[in-house]
Amino acid sequence: MIKKVLKFGGTSVGSIERIQHVAKIIENETKQGNSIIAVVSAMAGKTNELINLSKNISNEFNNRELDVLLSTGEQITSALLAGALTHLKINAKSWLNWQIPILTEGSHTNARIINMHVNQINEFLKNKGVAVIPGFQGIMSNGDITTIGRGGSDATAVAIAKIFQTDVCEIFTDVDGVFSTDPNKIPVAKKIEKISYDEMLELSSLGAKVMQASAVQTAMMYKIPLEVKSTFTNRDGTKIFDQENIDYNKSVTGVAYSKDETKITVIGVKDKPGIAANVFEPLNEAQINVDMVIQNISSDQKTTDITFTVKSEDALKTIDLLKNNKKIEYKKITKNDKVAKVSIVGAGMVSTPGVTYKMFRALADEKINILAISTSEIKLSVIINEQDTLHSIKKLHSVFELD
Ligand code: ADP
Ligand code: ASP
Ligand code: MG
Repeated sequence: MIKKVLKFGGTSVGSIERIQHVAKIIENETKQGNSIIAVVSAMAGKTNELINLSKNISNEFNNRELDVLLSTGEQITSALLAGALTHLKINAKSWLNWQIPILTEGSHTNARIINMHVNQINEFLKNKGVAVIPGFQGIMSNGDITTIGRGGSDATAVAIAKIFQTDVCEIFTDVDGVFSTDPNKIPVAKKIEKISYDEMLELSSLGAKVMQASAVQTAMMYKIPLEVKSTFTNRDGTKIFDQENIDYNKSVTGVAYSKDETKITVIGVKDKPGIAANVFEPLNEAQINVDMVIQNISSDQKTTDITFTVKSEDALKTIDLLKNNKKIEYKKITKNDKVAKVSIVGAGMVSTPGVTYKMFRALADEKINILAISTSEIKLSVIINEQDTLHSIKKLHSVFELD
């Protein structure tokens, strides 16, 4: 007998038939004698629908109440799945965040799981029960309900794997595993059999939403192996684990993209020591994450242009902060949100020379203009015009032999 946490994403529980299908998957596991904790997302589209309802009340809907609202999505699927299991004569029970409880820290809509009480659920598992737990939610020390960020059911599953010390953590989703790029956008994308935590973390952070980045980070920190697989096929999924166990025969493992970046340029800033620090100081104080930065010296060598990218949701606030920043003088601020960040990721890049050149050449051959660049040991990202996104992913996918 092994203890497993199985997480089912929004599409996997997107209809009554699908919930019944998930119940069958769990029934199969119990027949093999396995002890199961199931974590569920809200039905596909539900969380967005709830967010839209809140926006109908106010664009600045109170975050405490937003968490109360959003947590209902996962409450519905928990009850439906536990009901479907009971219908199959399986001893199943759902627990909400406050009943367990799942303790979180941090702010509303973006909290972090810090602990859970395990006794009552462990007791239930011992008596051959299936525990159903809603993903994405917890409570604060004052008892308020919290949510843990979009895609957060992945993080709930990983936290359960750690705290309940399960033998296995399986993430069931609507594709066969982690692919070389989004298989719903690029049909020639290939499934990756195994991938290291570091690469998965880069891919997730750079836009591959198949795994939530903070879930991967926790798994990496506590060395919890993950498997991403399909709810709808029996094919093997993707194993995510420590890098030492992986052979790299390719320099690049995957291509990711994200369209939620905005490029901001401060034109004609006086070029003197401390200027970059002065530009970024208020952004840092406001906890706005600046991603790529480029500084060009103007032809008269007296002024400079500073270009950088932020998440689009932070763009207006960033511009406000720049305009109110008394420490800087500049001619003009421009913003462009019709850009995308396209990234190649691969632990094999470290040992392969020429990857950077190959990427730039490939994009140049397609007449795709690079607006900004950033690199780390295992990733290379460029900002390009949004309309070139698909074209550039296709090209990079084929140039790095991922097709
Ligand atoms: P779930 O609801 O199961 O959590 P998500 O929608 O969060 O599922 O994530 C699965 C989706 O991630 C896929 O349908 C796919 O379109 C997208 N995706 C993006 N990049 C990748 C990738 N590299 N590999 C697999 N899927 C990806
Ligand atoms: N339902 C939440 C969301 O849509 C959490 C999740 O699906 O993982 O973000
Ligand atoms: Mg998800």
